Amino acid sequence: MSNYAIVIHGGAGSILRENLSAEMEAAYREKLTEALKVGEAILKNGGTSVDAVVETIKIMEDSPLFNAGKGSVYTHDEKNEMDASIMSGKDLTAGAVAGVDTIKNPIEAAREVMQNSKHVMLSGSGAVEFAEERGITIVDAAYFYNERRLQQLKKAKDKENVILDHDGGHGMVDPAHSEIEFDVTLKTDDKFGTVGCVALDQHGNLAAGTSTGGMTNKRYGRIGDSPIIGAGTYADDNTCAVSSTGHGEYFIRLAVAKEISAQMEHGNKSLTEAADNVIHTKLTELGGTGGVIAIDANGNIAMPFNTSGMYRGYIDTNGKLEVLIFKNN
Ligand code: ASP
Repeated sequence: MSNYAIVIHGGAGSILRENLSAEMEAAYREKLTEALKVGEAILKNGGTSVDAVVETIKIMEDSPLFNAGKGSVYTHDEKNEMDASIMSGKDLTAGAVAGVDTIKNPIEAAREVMQNSKHVMLSGSGAVEFAEERGITIVDAAYFYNERRLQQLKKAKDKENVILDHDGGHGMVDPAHSEIEFDVTLKTDDKFGTVGCVALDQHGNLAAGTSTGGMTNKRYGRIGDSPIIGAGTYADDNTCAVSSTGHGEYFIRLAVAKEISAQMEHGNKSLTEAADNVIHTKLTELGGTGGVIAIDANGNIAMPFNTSGMYRGYIDTNGKLEVLIFKNN
C-alpha cells in the first residue's frame, strides 16, 4: 500500500472498437501508460501532486494523439487555440490560460499563472506575453500543424454546410440540428482527446489539471470548460480533485467539477456517488456528453462517462496500473 495515486484521461467520445485500428489502440495505451508512470515517479519520490499533474499532462500535450498541445484541433479559421487549467487542493490556488496559440505546453503556463501571478486566468496574447516573460517555451504556430486534424476540420465544415443548406437560409442552426451535428462529429474516434490528470501526493494534497485544443471548427473565440475552474477542473483536499472532458458548454452550465466536490461536502456523498450523480443523472438529463476522472483524499478513484468510451487510466494506492478505452476495458 502507498499513500499516493494518479488518474488520467485522454478525452471521452464515441470511441468504438470498430473505428479504432489495433495500431492506434496500442499507441493510445502505450502513451497513457507512459504518462501515468511519469506522474507516479514524481509522487513516489515525494514530489507534489501539482508537479505530477503538470509533468503527466505534458507527456500527452507533446503527443499528436490527443487534442491538447501538439495534437490540438483546428478552429474555423484553421488556427489552434488552446486552453488549460490547474488547481491545488491544499490551498485552493488555481491558474488557467485560455485561447493561447503559441505556448508549447499550456499546462505549464497555467501552473505559472497559479504560482507566479496575482491572477487565476489569463487569455490570448496577454497570456502568451506572460508565459514568455516567465520563461515558458514559446513555439512557432507551425509546430501545431497536423494533417489529420485539418481533415477533421474539413469534414466538420462540410457537415455544417449541409445543415446550413437545410435551415432555410437564416443562418442559425436550431438546437436539435446542432445536437445531431455534434453526434455525427463524435462518430470519428479521433475527434476528441482533451487530456486531464488528478493526483494525490504523499503529503495528502490533491491537484487537478486539464488541457485541450477545444472543439473542432470553434469560432468567435469560443472557450470551453477546460480552463474554467469549477467546470473543467477543481481540487479541494477536503473533498476531491476532478478533471472533465466532453461537450464543454454543458460542463460549464453544471459547474461539473465543483458540483462533484459540493455533493461530497454538503451532501455527504462518497466520491463515486457524487461523480456518478453528476455524469449519469445531471449531465445526461441536460443532454450533455462526456465524463470525468476524480480522486479523493483517501485515494478512491472514479471515472464515470456517458459516451461509448473514454481514454483513461490510473495507478492506485495498491500500485495497480490499469489503462482503459472502452466501457469495460
Ligand atoms: N471539454 C472540451 C471543450 O469543450 C472538449 C473535450 O473535452 O473534448 O473544449
